[in-house]
Amino acid sequence: MTTTSADPVTFEDALERYDPVMGMEVHVELNTASKMFCGCSTVFGADPNTQVCPVCLGLPGALPVVNARAIESAIKIGLALNCSIAPWCRFARKNYFYPDMPKNFQTSQYDEPIAYSGWTEIEVDGVSYRIEIERAHMEEDTGKSLHVGGATGRIHGASHSLVDYNRAGIPLIEIVTKPIEGTGAKSPEVARAYVAHLRELVLGLGVSDVRMEQGSMRCDVNLSLRPIGVTTLGTRSETKNVNSLRSVERAVRHEIGRHAAVLDGGNRIVQETRHWHEDTGVTTAGREKSDAEDYRYFPEPDLVPVAPSREWVEALRAQLPEPPSLHRARLQADWAFSDLEMRDVAGAGAMNLVAETVAAGAAPQAAKKWWLSELARYANEHDIAIDDVPMSPEQVAQVQGLLDAGRINDKLARQVFDGVLAGEGTPEEVVARRGLEVVSDDSALGDAVDRAIEANPDVAAKIAAGKHAAAGALIGAVMKEMRGRADAGRVRELILARLG
Ligand SMILES: [Zn+2]
Repeated sequence: MTTTSADPVTFEDALERYDPVMGMEVHVELNTASKMFCGCSTVFGADPNTQVCPVCLGLPGALPVVNARAIESAIKIGLALNCSIAPWCRFARKNYFYPDMPKNFQTSQYDEPIAYSGWTEIEVDGVSYRIEIERAHMEEDTGKSLHVGGATGRIHGASHSLVDYNRAGIPLIEIVTKPIEGTGAKSPEVARAYVAHLRELVLGLGVSDVRMEQGSMRCDVNLSLRPIGVTTLGTRSETKNVNSLRSVERAVRHEIGRHAAVLDGGNRIVQETRHWHEDTGVTTAGREKSDAEDYRYFPEPDLVPVAPSREWVEALRAQLPEPPSLHRARLQADWAFSDLEMRDVAGAGAMNLVAETVAAGAAPQAAKKWWLSELARYANEHDIAIDDVPMSPEQVAQVQGLLDAGRINDKLARQVFDGVLAGEGTPEEVVARRGLEVVSDDSALGDAVDRAIEANPDVAAKIAAGKHAAAGALIGAVMKEMRGRADAGRVRELILARLG
């Protein structure tokens, strides 16, 4: 039976009849220096298969040893999500074959996760949602396959495949929510806000760089619909690797419409994984998946159980940074922003960017202004997340520094942004290359002022008669001649000095 329908249902239409239920599974790659069960480096971007050893290649006889720092990071994440921390838990083998997994099993956790039964709270448009956390467990990452010769980079049509095991064995934490219900039309935004919140929270813990574009944070979105008023859950689809905040929101929105169309057509939803296509904004079928997929889990015999002492757990709890909600309240106080301003910044996904820009020396209002105007517009026009705008918070602060120093004006600043975003270099380099610096040198300005007075004798006469407001016309003329680069305040002084 097919899962597609000829007539897609609009999001609004779907919500009139169906109640969406979501589940989020987020993988976070930890930033430990070495892998989960061996001493190999975890540095990103090394030549293929240069960070491997008998353990992470699964060679016979190699014995794994658990990375204590990874356990510590897992406990920190669990505590930050208000989870219980297991006093004793084990790793398990998840058996399946895949070429990028050299052991033919993944060392994971099954019925004994290190952290379980937690919760966290997010906010969307001023409304709080409590998200229940089922578990956060430890596992190892797989390697990476590269399919060569096909048009799409997928295995279909490829002439051959290459595999890089550098990533095999890097520690991961998988964070799984309980079903998220009652979010209705806000579901796409709740999903996005949850992932954004998790990102902020993990970043605050310092245990991962959570860069979605590099894959150190990866999100699977489970979604099902049930007719309004029905309490049993519908069949779900699992959209894999949705790797930007914006895509999380779009994928939920798309799946709600797709499910509704299938159900309206009298068909059944197939329980399956789906691939998300960033370019077209749709999902396509992956592999069918039953609930009781038989991975033949069994406790890992080569690793001792993990039994963190209560003292250790409490010591880690005491070191936790302030939760994001408190952090945000403190930022609001520090920045003297109104609730509305904070909501605008949060809504644009620019909280950390503004914070980093302020940390780099810009005034809070200035930092907010640039991220919510020039940079938000750029992100919008290029259809990218605001985090992916090719300009750093430091560079934004540098532009503001040039403004504060009077070396450029507001209008020129916008040209500096254009230049930096176009890849022309740092703000200083753009100013130098495009010749954007404000001219406040009296000899250059004086000549232009003289020419403006000469060309506008009537205006000059008014100013000489005491009508200083008329100076604006002459300032405008000087500005025009100097292509916006004149120091307007100094021009005014020179005009008044000559005519006063
Ligand atoms: Zn290794």
